Amino acid sequence: MHVPYVFNIQHFSTHDGPGVRTTIFFKGCPLRCAWCHNPESQRFTPETMTNRDGRETIVGKQYTIDELMEDVMKDIIVYEQSGGGVTLSGGEALAMDAAYIRELAQRLTENEISVGIDTCGVVSTERIKAIAQHADFFLYDLKLIDDDAHRKYTGGSNRLVLNNLITLNDLHARIFLRLIMVPGVNTNRHTIQRTMEWLQNHHITPEQINLLPYHRLGMDKYSRLGRRPVLFNIPDDTLMQDIKTQVESYYDTVTIGG
Ligand code: SF4
Repeated sequence: MHVPYVFNIQHFSTHDGPGVRTTIFFKGCPLRCAWCHNPESQRFTPETMTNRDGRETIVGKQYTIDELMEDVMKDIIVYEQSGGGVTLSGGEALAMDAAYIRELAQRLTENEISVGIDTCGVVSTERIKAIAQHADFFLYDLKLIDDDAHRKYTGGSNRLVLNNLITLNDLHARIFLRLIMVPGVNTNRHTIQRTMEWLQNHHITPEQINLLPYHRLGMDKYSRLGRRPVLFNIPDDTLMQDIKTQVESYYDTVTIGG
């Protein structure tokens, strides 16, 4: 079993699924989204990042499953009281060693801790099906419905993303569909309409649609890694409300943020 690297463990998170959660951010992702606000999440191995005070730090640390369990169990009362739990995120949690992630999810469910999976969907369908048995819900990213545009802005095809979304929907998984909204990329009415029509034509029934406005927090991390960010415009409230209204003509449960 290959022990994956983790670049952050966030306690008391309220943005990674229901209730108050601990989010474990695994290091490594199959995509390279142009707007990614966690560039240190992309490589599968540790790397050096310069701190704001000029000192260097190594990003990426291995934890045994026992170590992670000990850490997340500290907040078990908080999960119980808030209806929260643990979310496995990244990077891409499902790109990590399959046996490791499965065992971690099993250990959490054995302890009656809700397991959320935050995924970009670029994983094999076998893995999606296998982890669905141990997951309470999925935070499922759908970035671009057009494959050429998906390749251009994320570095990979959306074929698996769409297929796996259909698979999870067929399994009646709880899906929180997360649509990042990046002006100039995917916020025009035609793109939203195409996305909604694809979802409806495939009878996708997410529990919620979360419209996530692009932001520039974390962009300083690119230069701290010796890289250059690509910057997009930040969507204003009017644009986000217009998109929400358009999406609500297809689905009932739509929120900005999530
Ligand atoms: S899928 Fe998420 S973590 Fe991976 S590159 Fe895109 S935004 Fe970053």
